[in-house]
Amino acid sequence: MIHEIFPVGPLQCNCSVIGDPTTREAIVIDPGDDIDRVTAALDTHRLTVKQIAITHAHIDHVGGAMKLKKLTGAPILLNESDTALLKMLDIQAAWVGMKSPGAVAIDSSLNGGDLVTVGSIRGNVIHTPGHTEGSVCIYFPAQEKLIAGDTLFAGSIGRTDLPGGSFDKIMRSLHREVLALPDETLVVPGHGELTTIGEERSTNPFLQK
Ligand SMILES: [Zn+2]
Repeated sequence: MIHEIFPVGPLQCNCSVIGDPTTREAIVIDPGDDIDRVTAALDTHRLTVKQIAITHAHIDHVGGAMKLKKLTGAPILLNESDTALLKMLDIQAAWVGMKSPGAVAIDSSLNGGDLVTVGSIRGNVIHTPGHTEGSVCIYFPAQEKLIAGDTLFAGSIGRTDLPGGSFDKIMRSLHREVLALPDETLVVPGHGELTTIGEERSTNPFLQK
């Protein structure tokens, strides 16, 4: 599996470009900004984007989605429970001092239990409400990788003080869904350094009982 991870935008959201080396099909996860960098990664690996998946509707994750869709024609997948947040992108832009990217439309909802496929690569969508109601993680079992969005970070967890956030829900999502994954799972958080489930299970201060 081709997997390029690079930070985009002023808040340095980790964007993933995941591609099948045989079919040359790709999925882009969280193209928050810097779409030139995304298309450069696609060109380098001669990949064609089939899907644009967004872990949640915060501007730093979704801001570049429409631009990428216009360039590639790929549909935008985002859990519909984040529709209210998606309608607040102008307000979100003001919070973080970014230029509003304009309206973003969801082509289909990314729901818990959904399978995301790109060539022979399969990702399981896990609904992990808490950071936002529509937050999802995408787990690639064959590659033992989790794209965690802003649900889990190395040594921390997503903030829950923004509209739609819930500390009780993120803790439930982490304990019931995320920590149910094997220790070897490589975690690609929405921001910052990569980690593993085992590392976070044993050292993350928010996950100690
Ligand atoms: Zn966020």
